[in-house]
Amino acid sequence: MYRKTWMEINLDAMVENIKRCIELSGKKMIAVLKADASGCGDSFVAKAALEAGAKMLAVSSLDEAIRLRNEHYTGPLLVFGPTEPEDCSILIRKDISVAAFSPEWTNAITKFDIHGLKIHLKVDTGMNRIGFQTIVDLKKAFHQLQDAGCIMEGIFTHYYCTETDDEVTQRQYELFKKAVDALQYSFPWIHCDNTDATVTFKDPLTNACRVGGALFGICAFEPFKQPIALYTEVAMVKKVPSLQTIGYGATYQTSEEEIIATLPIGYADGLIRENTGRNVYIDGQYCKIVGRICMDQIMVKLEKEVPVGTKVEIFGKHINIEDMATDLNTIPDEIISVLSDRITRTYFFHGKQIAEINAKEIKSHMLTI
Ligand SMILES: *Cc1c(COP(=O)(O)O)cnc(C)c1O
Repeated sequence: MYRKTWMEINLDAMVENIKRCIELSGKKMIAVLKADASGCGDSFVAKAALEAGAKMLAVSSLDEAIRLRNEHYTGPLLVFGPTEPEDCSILIRKDISVAAFSPEWTNAITKFDIHGLKIHLKVDTGMNRIGFQTIVDLKKAFHQLQDAGCIMEGIFTHYYCTETDDEVTQRQYELFKKAVDALQYSFPWIHCDNTDATVTFKDPLTNACRVGGALFGICAFEPFKQPIALYTEVAMVKKVPSLQTIGYGATYQTSEEEIIATLPIGYADGLIRENTGRNVYIDGQYCKIVGRICMDQIMVKLEKEVPVGTKVEIFGKHINIEDMATDLNTIPDEIISVLSDRITRTYFFHGKQIAEINAKEIKSHMLTI
């Protein structure tokens, strides 16, 4: 590791979380690996998901799906976000299932030869993102696609208030059930439950859950394992006299002689500038980030000196990512998915470290200047 700023990803903990979801739902598991598994590395997280018993992987776009195919995943694979109708031949060739989500998309794709394309019909039950808005549109699309030789593999909707409102979820479920009943077709995959619904909502119709957050331990309703942590190391420690300022813009001034440590992490790593004033954890001390966050470095205030090279936790065992999200007025999913590829990812599986990936370094190996 050339720069001591790294994320630890414990795939054993992910396996436990996924097994727990399967146990809670009693259904097939579709593991959601969108956005490079929220920045945790889709091929590694896929390994954990498949070992835990996931029967399908889902991503949000075609490039993400192609990457999993390039990494030799040959099992069921769904793109649940929008795809371009012109890409239908690669979808068929790579055996990638897609969401049919609007009359326009359906009209456009049925102009091509789409024999054998696997379809999951997306029903909009109120989120108003993508999906068919009426049963009339849904039925029409179903027949158009079936007549074009598609395999009608699944039907799904997405819950949008599972964190706060069971009544909304119940209403969405009932709308979804009406839509499924109207088609009178026995779909192999019927799926609505995100992480929260997998834990809190039961229904007799769906046969799969579609889970993302739980893999990473993100859920307000169930004490999942926390598989990810972010660390850096102390690069310099110094005493700064009273009435000196720290960092760009001189936004922090020492009120006495203070012990200041510099850490090699900044906003280009995804540690956004709003983190100023929050704590990091260094060897038993909670240390405040003082001054503005730079692109590559931050300064923190210590109570007592520590040696250069001391490990620093940004989030993990001592600093809960949920609390960090609350401080930043966001959700843990956003914090992890914006951690940049400059941060080394270290993976633990079957009780030992199996890989240390620095995406920037990999990129440099592929170039000849
Ligand atoms: C993100 C997403 C999921 C997973 O939701 P979690 O709450 O992270 O489990 C499932 N389905 C769709 C369509 C999504 O966009």
